[in-house]
Amino acid sequence: MNYKNITIAGSGVLGYQIAFQTAFHGFNVTVYDINDDAILKAKSKFSNLSEAYKRDVNATEQQIEFTCKHLHYTSNLEEAVKDTDLLIEAVPENPSIKIDFYKKLAKVAPEKTVFATNSSTLLPSQFAEATGRPSKFLALHFANTIWIHNTAEIMGHSATDKKVFNDVVEFAKSIGMVALPLHKEQPGYILNSLLVPLLSAATQLLVTEVADIQTIDKTWMKATGAPIGPFGILDIVGITTAYNIDKIAAEKTQDELKIKTVNYLKEHYIDKNKLGVATGEGFYKY
Ligand code: NAD
Repeated sequence: MNYKNITIAGSGVLGYQIAFQTAFHGFNVTVYDINDDAILKAKSKFSNLSEAYKRDVNATEQQIEFTCKHLHYTSNLEEAVKDTDLLIEAVPENPSIKIDFYKKLAKVAPEKTVFATNSSTLLPSQFAEATGRPSKFLALHFANTIWIHNTAEIMGHSATDKKVFNDVVEFAKSIGMVALPLHKEQPGYILNSLLVPLLSAATQLLVTEVADIQTIDKTWMKATGAPIGPFGILDIVGITTAYNIDKIAAEKTQDELKIKTVNYLKEHYIDKNKLGVATGEGFYKY
């Protein structure tokens, strides 16, 4: 892996974290977003992030200065990718926005550039054709607060080149991530394939009145040694996200229990603005 120049497309919740973490580890990073307003917003968020790095990973003033020097910004896509080795796409989780973005990108990116999507729920095979370079395209999926929760799931599609895949695994390690390679495409990668069923099962046990919140969490924590139970996790993730995921599943399957669960979450939590840690109350009070 001899990447030097990295472009991050989309400077929202995840994009600016990926950009900062990558610059922190010495890469030249260009942040691309659709307009100058979005770029300004990103720049202002980097100062909060600097404080978080100082607090959580003992970053020094010197390291923060070094990081900021390695960050460049533009709203011109051609300019953003002119000598890029790897572009990490973190534009909204909307297939038509992503396809449109890849079609534009394919026209201006140099041949050497590898494209990686940070999509949470969509598969790389959905976009491979639009990229115009299927063999140099794969998913590189980070978790929110990447400087602490430093997982990077790397997932190719059937036409991803093996060397490209291995290079991206090495890149992930070089920016301080625990690299987690997948052998094939899987909706939800590893993490959400495990987590979503656990969280849904916990909510269903509550809704069917099998046990209360504390007992369900206590069972999971005591029996497995986990430091936090499913309802504690749900409060951190945000109950809105869980509600949205369960709602899609309920609409798709028309399963009675799933519908009941969605309605329960809406009535007892969403409508009361009890959305988890972010609002000071969810299944627990904070
Ligand atoms: P977000 O809405 O916070 O940010 C999206 C950014 O993309 C914004 O800055 C927006 O201005 C920009 N944008 C919009 N259209 C664009 C375009 N055509 N070209 C370039 N930029 C454009 O979204 P997010 O939460 O950062 O999510 C981005 C991606 O990361 C999604 O695919 C999401 O699934 C994934 N992801 C998010 C999280 C999370 O916790 N938020 C975690 C892992 C992965």
